[in-house]
Amino acid sequence: MRTVRRPQRGTLRDVRRGNRSLLLRTLYFGHELSRHDLSRLTGLSPATVSNVVGDLIADGIVVEAGAVDSDGGRPRTLLRVQESYGYVVGVDVGETRVRLELFDLSMTEKAKAEYALEPRRHEPSVVVDHILTGLRSVLADAGVDESQVLGIGIGVPGIVEQRPELLIHARAFGWNGVPLGDRLRAGTAIPIFADNGAQTMGQAELWFGAGVGARHVVMTLIGTGVGASIITDGATYRGVSSSAGEWGHTTIAVNGRACRCGGVGCLEAYVGAEAILASHGAGHLPGGDEESALAAMLTDPAARPVLDEAVAFLGAGLGNLINLFNPERIIVGGWAGLLLGRALLPEIRAAAARHALAQPMAQVSIELGRLGPEAVALGAATLVVEDFLLRSGTPRHA
Ligand SMILES: [Zn+2]
Repeated sequence: MRTVRRPQRGTLRDVRRGNRSLLLRTLYFGHELSRHDLSRLTGLSPATVSNVVGDLIADGIVVEAGAVDSDGGRPRTLLRVQESYGYVVGVDVGETRVRLELFDLSMTEKAKAEYALEPRRHEPSVVVDHILTGLRSVLADAGVDESQVLGIGIGVPGIVEQRPELLIHARAFGWNGVPLGDRLRAGTAIPIFADNGAQTMGQAELWFGAGVGARHVVMTLIGTGVGASIITDGATYRGVSSSAGEWGHTTIAVNGRACRCGGVGCLEAYVGAEAILASHGAGHLPGGDEESALAAMLTDPAARPVLDEAVAFLGAGLGNLINLFNPERIIVGGWAGLLLGRALLPEIRAAAARHALAQPMAQVSIELGRLGPEAVALGAATLVVEDFLLRSGTPRHA
């Protein structure tokens, strides 16, 4: 379970809201807990827990979920978050497809929709149309009304400026400050959240996958593009305008290969799927064909030198992360990262060890993501859940 933060001092109303958020968050990540467990885990008094839980039950957010025997005492009633209290939509705007998934609050998938993107056809209007069409489709499939949806979380490749309005800078898409939230609000009143795809996948792995239980984690996302999500002491490191984690555009070779970002020698130009396929002599491939082409390379002896080179550069990139951040865990994710990792994880670890200092290398484990490439959409949906927990289950005014 994630550790929880005590509410800070403030007015009585702030304290009440803080207690409510703390209890709801503890219950959300604890799944099924008794009032006694909640008091023990949060440090709140039994009377406070009882009051707040009573409010949460009255609001329909929390329900009783059976009872367990306690040592010698009366059976204790278990509580859980009512998964049908609200629904969340996660959207993965990828290089090759727009994928939507509708989840209940337990993150059980209720419906999904997917639309292929033609190569080099990533205009905002195309993406916005797919999201709005997909939204109508998943709501109809699951029989959920728009008013029951707490929010839409969107993972995009590129940099997401959160304030004062949502602006997306995605050079690979030719997006330079696209107001995605505004454009979607023309078609839906549901609150919109967005973050970089690597960040959303990182949050999904941290909450539900290979990152559970770790406080210092770097999640890498290797697909056509390359990024990372850096979690230090349980919190995502974002930098001044949320662009931190652009690991794919750190320089790995001075005067090296040209990168899609306009720079030269970027890591992405050596370990991104498009770069690996190009080194193997494959021309530009449409969407899903990149995945099958890379999978085919992994069993083709003739592709071995190109893969060895990619692993060497990936190891250097991971070594840089280890030396810079001293993480306890590095997770290799993204569709290309998972393909490479499943075939070559020991080689990748050995390559990282050639570039990392011995002491931090000895303390880090390099593991594969557990949630698969779909984790971007799941993680995007957690942006909405995070907001729901922060606001302690009070509705957001649209
Ligand atoms: Zn670059």
